[in-house]
Amino acid sequence: MNTKSKQTVMVVEDEEAFIDALVVGLQREGFGVEVARDGAEALSNFDKINPDIVLLDVMLPKVSGTDVCREIRKKSQVPIIMVSAKGTEIDTVVGLEVGADDYIVKPYRIRELVARVRAALRRSATPEGESLDSGTSVSVGDVTINPEQHVVTVRGQLTKLPLKEFELLYVLMANAGRVMTRDTLIDRVWGSDYYGDTKTLDVHIKRLRTKVEVVPSTPTSILTIRGLGYKFEKLN
Ligand code: CA
Repeated sequence: MNTKSKQTVMVVEDEEAFIDALVVGLQREGFGVEVARDGAEALSNFDKINPDIVLLDVMLPKVSGTDVCREIRKKSQVPIIMVSAKGTEIDTVVGLEVGADDYIVKPYRIRELVARVRAALRRSATPEGESLDSGTSVSVGDVTINPEQHVVTVRGQLTKLPLKEFELLYVLMANAGRVMTRDTLIDRVWGSDYYGDTKTLDVHIKRLRTKVEVVPSTPTSILTIRGLGYKFEKLN
């Protein structure tokens, strides 16, 4: 998908101490790093930088990280990892709702951050990898998902989904009628090296329901199996 030898991380961060540590840490791991110091700069430079991944601080001057995420998602499926300070995790959950792939809370270890960046890049580089291996389209009830063309049709309507939501829906639908445990879903969609919060899964499920369900608050397709995980209902 990307033929550049060096992958570029766009770091959107306003605190110099974090910027320095990130630039040094990421460059040492072989990444190219471009820094934007506020939300407006991030948006105006996004096309020019054309990053492979975005590390997006939530609390930013001018335009918030959440709004930056929302804007980027209008035009790009680039992996976005939200970064929040302790106590502002709620904003990060909002970030996930507007299309971020993952989040990490400050203070973090640079090693953990790099692991998350690599995992996100790997997932975005292989949309037809492990979790989407069959490549054939799956229809359950009034939902059809086609991993080859990366399209989802819900009740005849073409529906756009961010990568992680797409992969999650595919895993659920390919296993329709079967209960998928939380661990299995996280493993298949985010990778076995995922260190993040399991809330990420629930937020993605919630987002999927708003797109797939007739009444998202009373789902009939994507069911919660208490204490276990989720199931895509076969008959609906
Ligand atoms: Ca900040």
